[in-house]
Amino acid sequence: MFNKLVIFFFIVIQLLLQVDAATYDITNSKGKTDLTPYIEYNIGGHDPLESPPIEGWSEFNQAQIKLGFDHRVQWFRFELSNTSTQVETKYLELDAPLLDNIVLYLLIDGQVRSVQHLGDNQAFSLRPVLHDSFIIPIVWGIDETLEVYIATQTSGSTQLPINLWQKEYFQEKQSYQQLLTGSYMGLIFAAILVCLIAYIARRQKASLLNAGFMFSLLMIILTLNGFAFHYIWPNYPVLQQHAFYIFACIAIIFSALLARDTLKHFYQDHKLMAWFKSIAFFALLLTPATLYLSYQTALYLVIAISIIICACHLYAGAMTWKHGLHEHQEFNYGLGILLISLVLITVNNFSALELPISNLYLLQFSLLAHVMFLIISAVRSSTLGGNGLTTEQDILASDQMMELQFALRELEETNQQLEKLNTLDALSGIYNRRYFDKRLLAELRRGRRELATLSLIIFDIDHFKKVNDTYGHTTGDEVIRSISLTASQQLNRTTDEIFRYGGEEFAVLLPNTDLAGAKILAEKIRSAIENLKITLNEQTLSCKISLGVASHNSKEPIEPSSFIEMADSALYKAKQTGRNQVQTYQKG
Ligand code: GH3
Ligand code: MG
Ligand code: MG
Repeated sequence: MFNKLVIFFFIVIQLLLQVDAATYDITNSKGKTDLTPYIEYNIGGHDPLESPPIEGWSEFNQAQIKLGFDHRVQWFRFELSNTSTQVETKYLELDAPLLDNIVLYLLIDGQVRSVQHLGDNQAFSLRPVLHDSFIIPIVWGIDETLEVYIATQTSGSTQLPINLWQKEYFQEKQSYQQLLTGSYMGLIFAAILVCLIAYIARRQKASLLNAGFMFSLLMIILTLNGFAFHYIWPNYPVLQQHAFYIFACIAIIFSALLARDTLKHFYQDHKLMAWFKSIAFFALLLTPATLYLSYQTALYLVIAISIIICACHLYAGAMTWKHGLHEHQEFNYGLGILLISLVLITVNNFSALELPISNLYLLQFSLLAHVMFLIISAVRSSTLGGNGLTTEQDILASDQMMELQFALRELEETNQQLEKLNTLDALSGIYNRRYFDKRLLAELRRGRRELATLSLIIFDIDHFKKVNDTYGHTTGDEVIRSISLTASQQLNRTTDEIFRYGGEEFAVLLPNTDLAGAKILAEKIRSAIENLKITLNEQTLSCKISLGVASHNSKEPIEPSSFIEMADSALYKAKQTGRNQVQTYQKG
């Protein structure tokens, strides 16, 4: 009774409004036609599904129909006319397999001809055509114009392409589509099977986890394209409503466990392992929770956790790459692609931006990429690894080899760090005496080869004992640190180096520099130190230095100790003649 009333109400409104939607002439349509340009839309507020909006129809200016997270009823309408002289049958397709509720009204001259209820809240077998998306066969009499009104309501967010199909073309396309889906599924199933066999043969946990990961991704795809509802659970609309989240959570759990398993030999105590563990645990909690959460909350949670886990995978990928563990690259590349498609899916769902590719294709592509990388990795390990690993001992040995390689690499890195530390002076942070001896020898040799002039400045803080006596040793140390820093800041060339030569004595090595040039730099250092105000414990003190400069033109060989003595004697002269000055070494 209520329904009839609503229909009556609907007819009255139609007569009152005499609306004039853009009309599409179906006589011209061949193959598949996108009806989006002919559609007007209306967001129906909180009206129940059966009460049509009276006004507020707008032209539709976008290339795609997108239903954002809007729980309200959304209305669409368009007109289809048959101007030919024969009866026509066409298929109208609403290509959004996850839409919850759809009501479709067909009107002729303002009279309701039929009302159809569709949506994935309904059992699959109730559909007019058993197909993954919603297909409604429509028949036109000669010279008949049909007005189509569609009301949709969904808890999710989806795109809604509306197409008109020529019947024969639809059937042809459908068998082609089935062939493609079949081949795709066949390939993925083969990959899953290979992983399972590998698990049975070698007892490698990673193979089993990989099989689980691929299976859950495949189930997400089959849920999204409507295949699962068609063939796997046609009579369980409830399952159809929740399958996406459940499998998304399971996929996350598998990928986290897989990452932990592959990385466990190398990063046992790394914080990334704890991250993967927490993610797997959280996804495990989320799996049953999605049954009770709203569609939107569940989607946000799943997307958030997917982004976190993909970031962890990418981090793990970068880390294995840095440490040369190329055996694990493929897995991470595959996941990298998955992350990119995830971001694109998010953009597709949440922004006004329209990407030319649908979420489903993105997911299908990334799963395919993952399988491809898996195959590449399998081929590589069997060809590069010789005759492959078959026994448990082999596997154990290979694991131990990898661990050993990894330990050696770490040791090498530690050695390099130690070597660097060995060249530095602990107090001042500049190079130490040991390194000075090495560098001086090397530069003297190089100078001889290249016939270049090498200069050396040695300087010593004036009356430093007094600083220690007056302010204490700790302050003295601070003074040494400040002077080291200031002096090193005066060097311009990258080849110039400063060293702490002894207690409060410093050396500066200047390759390719003659005596005149070295003297200028020495003067610059002297004046910088003289102007330096060192503030410690609210006291300000300043120091002066004396400097000796020597140069060696490398035609003749010279012992490092003789060269140092030359600079030292110039320094002695500077101390003798009043301190706070630069003296150069002159022969004789
Ligand atoms: P001048 O060089 O002008 O002749 O007088 P000076 O007082 O600086 O005399 P000298 O070079 O002989 O004395 C160096 C003093 O520097 C001796 C020592 O107590 C102090 N010294 C050496 N190394 C350090 C150090 O690492 N920290 C501190 N606080 N003092 C040091
Ligand atoms: Mg001194
Ligand atoms: Mg001294």
